[in-house]
Amino acid sequence: MPYDVVVLGGGSGGYATALRGAQLGLNIALIEADKVGGTCLHRGCIPTKAMLHAAEVADSVREAGAFGVGAQLEGIDMQQVNRFKQGVIDRLYKGLSGLVSGRGVTLVPGWGTLVAPDAVQVGEDRIEGKHVVLGTGSYAKSLPGLEIGGRVMTSDQALELDYIPQHPVVLGGGVIGLEFASLWTSFGAKVQIVEGLPHLAPNEDEAISKTLERSFRKRGIGFKVGAMVAEVTQDENSVTVTLQSGDQVTGDILLVAVGRGPRTQDLGYEAQGLNLDRGFVLTDDRLRTGVGNIWAVGDIVPGLQLAHRGFQQGIAVAERIAGLNPPPLIESGIPRVTYCEPEIASVGLNEVAARQRHGDGAIETVEYNLAGNGKSQVLQTQGFIKVVSLKGGPVLGIHMIGSRVGELVGEAQLIVNWEAHPSDVAELVHAHPTQDEAIGEAFMALAGKPLHAHA
Ligand SMILES: Cc1cc2nc3c(=O)[nH]c(=O)nc-3n(C[C@H](O)[C@H](O)[C@H](O)COP(=O)(O)OP(=O)(O)OC[C@H]3O[C@@H](n4cnc5c(N)ncnc54)[C@H](O)[C@@H]3O)c2cc1C
Repeated sequence: MPYDVVVLGGGSGGYATALRGAQLGLNIALIEADKVGGTCLHRGCIPTKAMLHAAEVADSVREAGAFGVGAQLEGIDMQQVNRFKQGVIDRLYKGLSGLVSGRGVTLVPGWGTLVAPDAVQVGEDRIEGKHVVLGTGSYAKSLPGLEIGGRVMTSDQALELDYIPQHPVVLGGGVIGLEFASLWTSFGAKVQIVEGLPHLAPNEDEAISKTLERSFRKRGIGFKVGAMVAEVTQDENSVTVTLQSGDQVTGDILLVAVGRGPRTQDLGYEAQGLNLDRGFVLTDDRLRTGVGNIWAVGDIVPGLQLAHRGFQQGIAVAERIAGLNPPPLIESGIPRVTYCEPEIASVGLNEVAARQRHGDGAIETVEYNLAGNGKSQVLQTQGFIKVVSLKGGPVLGIHMIGSRVGELVGEAQLIVNWEAHPSDVAELVHAHPTQDEAIGEAFMALAGKPLHAHA
């Protein structure tokens, strides 16, 4: 008897499909070569956030005197940081494994290859399904000709280091590069970032990128933007990046954080007639591949490579297979957080994208500075909240920078995805003193009645 659904890959996208499908009464096989939880749980979101939390603790101790608390940072014990990180992963992994078995999902360990539109081969076993969902995820890319090894590493190896690099060079000023640059700095390293585009956090609103650059400069993080790599060399003591400009940047390790490629090679996808673009699996807006009953979810589908996008896609695919009709996901409505210090959180269109889409005259923006926000002052953080809105119409985007603003993205995404108008939000009461209040203040300013802000 074929399964109702065979899911290939037990990461965020794949396991969400399996869990939701089982909830809807479908008979599911989940094929996983390594551990359920995938990149996010074992090599991505969770370990990096555990390390960033340890980094925040280090900063708090270092700055304790300013708050009248006597404490001295005696050092970072990387063995203990790693034990803490692994403890978090292990607890979550145990919980997730329990969920998978508890919901009656059949976990098939092993490497799967798509051998027919309705079958995946795992070793000697042919696993057949009325539907097949592909969620094989992604891998850390490198630059052409730049081999990973020795002092040159990706986030996979950087997460396993049992020491703190003293002078790491980070290639790439996107989310992953910024998070490592931030945590290593908090651990006492002298970090240098090399980014090919004109700004750090190049996918964010430019106002955010510029504020981040100022904050990073203040933290002593060096960076070169618009800098293209010509060559990388390493010896037993150091690694040197030579830029096309002739400048050189030398460090003890090089973290290559230049993006992630889809893991779709040699899995039988092309042989079964799937439409691939630079390795990504092309689908319609319902995530159907157009071949048999094959669907795709997560990082192999072009778009934002985020765990919560994978969860939502997996849930939606399971529901469609079960005969429900959830609406397609709107990519710009997916919240995005970079957990460096200061944090960046955004949802919706940035100012440039909004102007391009709706025309210059149709857009209004406001920036509310966290200097006027009581809780942010208590936390001693700087930053702002920027709202991009259609004049007389709904809010199109919210962009935030400052310590802990990632926690504000929940309200921001409701505002954008429910297409609220500034006046709708300006009427709502925000608890005082919270950082959340700054969102309320931004909307009061946009509605023409700022309270704690100069008009
Ligand atoms: C350092 C880092 C930090 C990150 N931080 C965040 C963050 O803070 N927030 C966020 O939202 N996202 C973050 N991400 C991104 C997030 O991890 C991914 O978007 C998410 O894991 C993608 O889920 P997925 O299901 O598509 O693939 P994956 O999680 O990569 O899972 C794919 C799974 O499929 C298995 N597999 C692959 N091929 C086969 C095969 N042929 N047979 C059997 N099994 C197979 C793999 O073993 C893996 O377990 C981070 C990523 C990294 C690297």
